[in-house]
Amino acid sequence: MCIFCSIVEGGIPSKKVYEDDDVLAILDISQTTEGHTLVMPKKHYDNFLAMPKDEFANLMAVTQTLAEKITGNLNASGCNILINTNAVAGQSVMHAHVHIIPRYSDNDTVSFTFSENIFDLDEVLKKINRD
Ligand code: AMP
Ligand code: ZN
Repeated sequence: MCIFCSIVEGGIPSKKVYEDDDVLAILDISQTTEGHTLVMPKKHYDNFLAMPKDEFANLMAVTQTLAEKITGNLNASGCNILINTNAVAGQSVMHAHVHIIPRYSDNDTVSFTFSENIFDLDEVLKKINRD
């Protein structure tokens, strides 16, 4: 049983931000910042990598429209668009979704740390592009 499929089917209540035939957007129950929204395909895919490219492109087009609306109407100064893929990356609900996290100031409680590590970049490129 998938919690987001239950939300799409109406079995679990949610605060709907947007809905069309293919996409549902709801307020994240955790509200990392005011207006934190989840945009998901109505059809179940375990994560975005499993989605057909045209359906993912449409999901991102809706995400762009909603990000513009949410940041504008909530007077946010920007937003983070986040897709966690698999448990190692923090995905806790295994139904594809995109986070829209409005940002109001650079000293809010949200933090993403990109630590610096050294790799041989030519070796990395070789590995990425191998058949
Ligand atoms: P992720 O960690 O990327 O899989 O994100 C899952 C998100 O779903 C988390 O930010 C949760 O707060 C949110 N979430 C879990 N259950 C619900 C729910 N019933 N309604 C709204 N958001 C939810
Ligand atoms: Zn699902």
